Amino acid sequence: MSTSTQTKKTPAPAKKLPFRLGQFDPQCRYPVIVGKNTTIGYVSRWHREWDAVSSIGTHRVGRPPVGKSGAEHAAQWLYDLYRTGVITSIQADEVTEVVHPHGPAPLLDPRMPNTRTNRAKAMAVNAHYDRFGWRPVSGYAGSDNHQWLYCVPCGKTVAVYPSHQRGRNGAPPSPYRHPGCLDEATIRALIPAYGPATTTTKAAKAKSK
Ligand SMILES: [Zn+2]
Repeated sequence: MSTSTQTKKTPAPAKKLPFRLGQFDPQCRYPVIVGKNTTIGYVSRWHREWDAVSSIGTHRVGRPPVGKSGAEHAAQWLYDLYRTGVITSIQADEVTEVVHPHGPAPLLDPRMPNTRTNRAKAMAVNAHYDRFGWRPVSGYAGSDNHQWLYCVPCGKTVAVYPSHQRGRNGAPPSPYRHPGCLDEATIRALIPAYGPATTTTKAAKAKSK
């Protein structure tokens, strides 16, 4: 059964990982790839936990040890199952499509419990997106999980953290929306909700009172 007899006892300095992570998919899952192009599964973060999808289903791998990358931790977990023959490779296109570029996105990500609180939160977030020129193309997955949004001003679809789109202390969010978007002045001109570029509105407000 053992196939790795020739590397016995070798200390293996700075060993290269036997797998690599590919570009994340529309569900923000990273494919775990071995060899040239063999996908053995996907790993993804759900709040602080890491999940792995493989030929034997979806498992919660949990949190990585302190200081270790969660993606790598979950990928190693998958790789160990693959190496020992517990799981097989999967077709890379066995991906659930969660991005809805041509129609309304569901209110909630399929992993979000469909509760009244979550629905209310998602609707409030959607209203905020509407004011700031975003159109959700995937369901709300919590403020600290990626959500795919269509950027109305520039036409790109990007994965963002909803928490990053909130302003601080009631102020509008930063007009720097995502890498490669339009410049700040254009964004402010297109989306009035960002307000003017000056930060001296406080004095004016006090005066008009
Ligand atoms: Zn943009």
